Amino acid sequence: MSAATNEPGSAAGSGGAVTCESCGSDEREVYAVHRIYVTPADWDTAGREDVQPDVEHWCYACLASYPHEMVAE
Ligand SMILES: [Zn+2]
Repeated sequence: MSAATNEPGSAAGSGGAVTCESCGSDEREVYAVHRIYVTPADWDTAGREDVQPDVEHWCYACLASYPHEMVAE
């Protein structure tokens, strides 16, 4: 709502822009999560959810699209 872009060139990089580690999109805000790999149940196997120990930083769209567990900070 502010910051008229009267400077040519990049507006990004001067603070605030972060990159989603899932989709690679530049976002204003990302969230620390553990990715969860979901294996659907099959006729001979039970379904399982593997929570990854690594912390990733996702944008809101990825949070809405992929299974994850929020990192408690
Ligand atoms: Zn994303």
